[in-house]
Amino acid sequence: MSYVVLARKYRPRTFAQMVGQEHVVQALSNALTQGRLHHAYLFTGTRGIGKTTVSRILAKSLNCTGPDGKGGITAEPCGVCQACTEIDADRYLDYIEMDAASNGGKDEIKDLIERAAYKPGIGRFKVFMIDEAHQLSKDAFNALLKTLEEPPEYLKFVLATTDPDKVLPTVLSRCLQFNLRPMAPATVRDHLQRVLEAESVPSEDGALRLLARAARGSMRDGLSLTDQAIAYGGGQLTEAGVRSMLGSVDRSHARTLVQALSRHDGAAVLAAVDSLRSLGLSASATLEELALLLQQMAVEQAVPGALDAEDADTEAARSLLGVLAADELQLLYSMVLHGREELSLMNDEYGALTMVLLRFLAFPALGAATAPREVRSAPLRAPAPPAISVAKVQPSVKEVPLPATAVAVSPAMAERVSATGSVPDAAAVATAHEPSPFDGALADRWNTTFKALCEQGSVAALVRELAAQAGLVAIDDSATPHRWKLQVAREPLRNPALADKLAAALSVLLGHAVVLDIEAGSPTDSPAQRDAAERARRQAAAEATIEQDPVVRELMQQFKTARIVPGSIKPL
Ligand SMILES: [Zn+2]
Repeated sequence: MSYVVLARKYRPRTFAQMVGQEHVVQALSNALTQGRLHHAYLFTGTRGIGKTTVSRILAKSLNCTGPDGKGGITAEPCGVCQACTEIDADRYLDYIEMDAASNGGKDEIKDLIERAAYKPGIGRFKVFMIDEAHQLSKDAFNALLKTLEEPPEYLKFVLATTDPDKVLPTVLSRCLQFNLRPMAPATVRDHLQRVLEAESVPSEDGALRLLARAARGSMRDGLSLTDQAIAYGGGQLTEAGVRSMLGSVDRSHARTLVQALSRHDGAAVLAAVDSLRSLGLSASATLEELALLLQQMAVEQAVPGALDAEDADTEAARSLLGVLAADELQLLYSMVLHGREELSLMNDEYGALTMVLLRFLAFPALGAATAPREVRSAPLRAPAPPAISVAKVQPSVKEVPLPATAVAVSPAMAERVSATGSVPDAAAVATAHEPSPFDGALADRWNTTFKALCEQGSVAALVRELAAQAGLVAIDDSATPHRWKLQVAREPLRNPALADKLAAALSVLLGHAVVLDIEAGSPTDSPAQRDAAERARRQAAAEATIEQDPVVRELMQQFKTARIVPGSIKPL
C-alpha cells in the first residue's frame, strides 16, 4: 500500500473537521442551513491555510444527495454520495478547480465561461474554483466579470487568493468574502498531536512545538514538515531530531546571548557567536530563536503568568526576566528582527550576526548605565540627532556663530552632550572652522579637484552640484582614510547620500579612501563661485570689446538713438 502524505490523508472533509477557522465555518454553515446562498465566494488568507479545502467542502455541501440519494443542500455533507466521494477524489464533473497562477490567461477564462453556459451534468450546481485569483490578467478579470454579474442559477464561483488587494474592486464587490486566519502554533500543535496519535507515531512534546512553530500558521505546512520529520527520525519524533532537521538553534544559545548582551559583555557575545559558527548553526535561525525568547520575556514581564507553563521554553524566558529592562528588551527585539534582513548582505553571516548584536552594545544610554537596573524605569531615549545637540550648546562654549556639524559627531558624544550640557570635543570641532591661512590653497585644490572629477565624468546631477557649491575648508591627511571637510550653504545638498557618492568619486580620483564631512556654511571660494566670476569677467571683456569696436563706435555716432541691447552680447 502506498504511503499517503499526512496533509492529504488528514485533509478535512467536513466543516466539523476544519481546525482553527471556526468563524468561516460558522458563517458558511449558517448560510447553507438557512438556504441563503451567494453566487460568488472569495476566500482569502496565506498559503496552506485551507482555502481549497473550504471550497471543496462547500461544493460537497451544495451537491450532496445524502446516503439515500434524497438529501438536499446541507452544512454536513454525507461523505458517501457520488458528489461527496468524487469531489474528495478530485474527479467530480461539476466541480472545476483552476489555478490562475499557471492559467492566468484570457483563453482559460473564456473556456471556463463557455463551460458555464451548460447546466450541471450530474449535480445541482456547477462550482468553479479559481485559485490565486489575483494572478488573473486584467483581460481575464474583465471577461469573468460579465458572468459574475449575471450568473445562471446553477453556477457558483469560488475565488481564492493570498493577495485580495490585487483583486479588482469590481470583482471583490460581487463576492462574499471570508478571511481565513493563520493558525496559532498551539492549534497546529494540538492537531499534530491528534494526527500522530492516530498514526501511532511516538513524539516528544518539544518536537511538536518546534514543528508547530515552523508551520507559520499553515496546517498544511505543519503536516508536511511532520511527514519529513517522521522520515528523518526513522519513524519517531524527538526534539533533537526535529531541531536538527529544521536547523533551529537550541534555546540555550539564545539564552547565553541574552545574558551576555544584558551584561554588556562584548567578549561573551563574540565567544557565543564563535560557538555558533563552530557548531554550524545558522545565524538567521539564531536571530529567530533570540527574537522568540525576547518576545516571551516581554510577554511575561508585562503580564506575569501569561506564558504557557507546559512549554519547556517558558522556564528559560522566566529565568531571564530580571536581566533586561522593558525598554532594553524592546530595543534588542527590534534590532534582532531588522538584523535578519542584514545577514544576507554579507558573505560571512556570522560577521553580520556579530555586528547586529554589537549594535545593542553601541547604545550609550544602555552601556553607560551606572544606576542599578531595578530603578531604571525611564523610557529609553534614542540618542538625539548629533547636529541639533551640538548646534545648541556650541555658542556657549565658543562665541563663533557656527553652523551645525552634520557629520563627525558620534551618537556617544551627542549622548554625553545631552547628559552633561557640555561638549568635551567642542574646542576641536570649533578649531576646524577658524579661518586658515591655507584657505586660498584649499580653494585652489578643490577647484582643480572639481575639474578633474568633471573630466573623469564621475559626478553628475546633484552630486556635481554639491561639489560645485562646496568650499573645501580642511583636509586631515594624518590618518587613513583622509578626511576632507566641505562647507555648503544649501541644505538639500547636505545630504548624506550625495556626500557618499562624492566621497566615492573622490576616492577613485585620488586613488585612496576619502571620508567627507559636509557642514553648513557659506563658502567664499567654491568652484561655482569661481565659475560665476569667470563668466562675469568674460562678459565684461566681451562688452568692452564690442563697445571699443571701431565699426560699432561709428554706428553709435551716426545713429544717436542707437544703443546696444543689454544682454545681447555673449562671450564666445
Ligand atoms: Zn454527500
